[in-house]
Amino acid sequence: MKKYDLCVVGGGFSGTMAACAAARDGLSVLLLEKSGALGGAANVNYVLPFMNFNYRNREMNEMRPLSKGLFLEFIGRMQEMGALLHEACIHFNEEYLKIVLDDMTGDYGVDVLFHSTFIGADTEDSADGKKIVKKVRFMNVNGVMEAEADRFIDATGDGLLFADAGCEYHIGREGDHKTQPMTLCFRMGKVDVDRYYREDRKKINDLWKEKLAAGELLNPREDVLIFRHLTSDVLHLNSTRVLGNPTDPFERSNAEKTARKQMLELFNFLKENAPSCKDATILSSSFEIGVRESRMVEGLYTINTQDILECRKFDDAMTAGNYDIDIHSPDGSGTTHFWIPDGDFYTIPYRACVPKDAENLWVVGRCISSTHEAQAAYRIMPIVACIGEGVGIMTAVAKKNGQKNYEITDEQVRESMDARGLVEGH
Ligand SMILES: Cc1cc2nc3c(=O)[nH]c(=O)nc-3n(C[C@H](O)[C@H](O)[C@H](O)COP(=O)(O)OP(=O)(O)OC[C@H]3O[C@@H](n4cnc5c(N)ncnc54)[C@H](O)[C@@H]3O)c2cc1C
Repeated sequence: MKKYDLCVVGGGFSGTMAACAAARDGLSVLLLEKSGALGGAANVNYVLPFMNFNYRNREMNEMRPLSKGLFLEFIGRMQEMGALLHEACIHFNEEYLKIVLDDMTGDYGVDVLFHSTFIGADTEDSADGKKIVKKVRFMNVNGVMEAEADRFIDATGDGLLFADAGCEYHIGREGDHKTQPMTLCFRMGKVDVDRYYREDRKKINDLWKEKLAAGELLNPREDVLIFRHLTSDVLHLNSTRVLGNPTDPFERSNAEKTARKQMLELFNFLKENAPSCKDATILSSSFEIGVRESRMVEGLYTINTQDILECRKFDDAMTAGNYDIDIHSPDGSGTTHFWIPDGDFYTIPYRACVPKDAENLWVVGRCISSTHEAQAAYRIMPIVACIGEGVGIMTAVAKKNGQKNYEITDEQVRESMDARGLVEGH
């Protein structure tokens, strides 16, 4: 296999957009994905919908997107295919989503390898003690293969590449290192969805709370979290809740089994108690349980709660967001929200994507450098897509100037993002 300018590991929204952005700027890019399609959590975990990424600009008195660039191009392509449903958030059909991401990576010239699971990295130490990733090993139908590249991006969500390369990282909240719970999303068909929202929703939630208080439920979640689907008689349930360490393979395996029991519990509960669900069937559950939070790299900068709630505007901002700090309790019941002031937004700095102990490796997506609380805000798909695009652009700048990841300046980030109008307020 040829040596690439950049190898991206993980084809979720962050990795796919990083790969497209770097290839658009002339880099040869290899994208490794362990499943058979791009989209990450939207594909393998049935995550839906895109959380809101617009805000009201008070001066202009208009709604404006905070997630821009390739993410908006993706939204435009989905709209053309009739694959979106606009409510407060944007619901999508994930089968079209996979095709659009195939088209985008194809159009920008990314080499994609599906069914290719990263299994390890070869590194060397630089003179000043930083890791240099030389190659990655991955497994597919051909056996174990290797890919060499000058630069690498970890977009695996779980930080598999930076962990294997020996970079420092942390897990969960300060003190007890507990993470947000895992959730297996699933779908129910043959539901009278309009009736559910009109007549059953409140009653169902009151009854759920009673049963929870009486200790009759396996699932510790405080309510029943349901979304519409593009198919009018389908309900999407994001409502199982399993506590545990997602980086422990036994705990993660047990989480799958526990979540399946919770799925059956939710299904039976709705079928028995909601007239709109009396004829319902379980359609399917996602391929893998969804992990909200696991390893987070120790970066040149660690995003914290104040940065999010005080809407900090970084000099090396790559994108902006206003999704709240939304923490599903790592202890069981309860979801806490810390809201962003109306009409304002926070930004995501480039330095949070640069491991402090590696020189040719970047991190994108939900495992960049931040605290447990800050991650609970920027982890949504529109924002991680834009983090990916920003880093992809900066890998091309690094190549052009022969720079290491940490040598990129704030001015270079600003110029590069402004050239594409990626940061609101610039
Ligand atoms: C249950 C749940 C509900 C959520 N709800 C919403 C929501 O409603 N709206 C919203 O916008 N966001 C939501 N999120 C958050 C959002 O989905 C994630 O934070 C986001 O998708 C993270 O993107 P990512 O690119 O970092 O990682 P991911 O989307 O997880 O992508 C990582 C990719 O890496 C691949 N990969 C992993 N290991 C390897 C390997 N060894 N080799 C090769 N490839 C590998 C995976 O297959 C995957 O494709 C939710 C998350 C969860 C878990």
